[in-house]
Amino acid sequence: MKFCSECATPVEFKIPAGDHLPRHICPACETIFYSNPRIIAGCLPIWEDKVLLCRRNIEPRFGYWTLPAGFMENGETTEQAAMRETWEEAEADVEVISLYTHTSIVHVNQLQLFYLAKLRAPSFAPTSESSEVALFSESEIPWDELAFPTVTNALKLFFKERAEGGKFGFHRIDLDRNNPENNRSVTQTESQF
Ligand code: ZN
Repeated sequence: MKFCSECATPVEFKIPAGDHLPRHICPACETIFYSNPRIIAGCLPIWEDKVLLCRRNIEPRFGYWTLPAGFMENGETTEQAAMRETWEEAEADVEVISLYTHTSIVHVNQLQLFYLAKLRAPSFAPTSESSEVALFSESEIPWDELAFPTVTNALKLFFKERAEGGKFGFHRIDLDRNNPENNRSVTQTESQF
């Protein structure tokens, strides 16, 4: 950012007193502008033995297949965001079952959440954001045409756990391209301590 959104003075970029990271600061009105990670919420929608994918009609990754997901809005819960995005991208009405993957993507400053969800009916349609929307069985998944690693991860975990009997865990995943030694994937079932 270049100018203060409160008073239009050119901002400075420096560490505020008592802080540890540089921020955009207005030297006139002293407003500090914080930049924090963004939250993306979506669903892994299931109908019988198939999952619903959307072909992206928007950049980035135009033409690649994805799970319906998008930026959380002010005034909603993560679950509401996931359901809303599923409707906006696929006109699909879902019942959320459980939080499935929680992925910190450090190099792009994002937290991505995917919920396991059931379609209430096999009803869906293309939208302005999705050129095609379709149900895929495991053998039909276009693995080489998936849009994002988080989508590939969630689908792989889902089909693996389904094959192992259908007990679905909660997966905490960290991805950091700049510090790959920090990458991890932890499956949580029940905690006791
Ligand atoms: Zn200002």
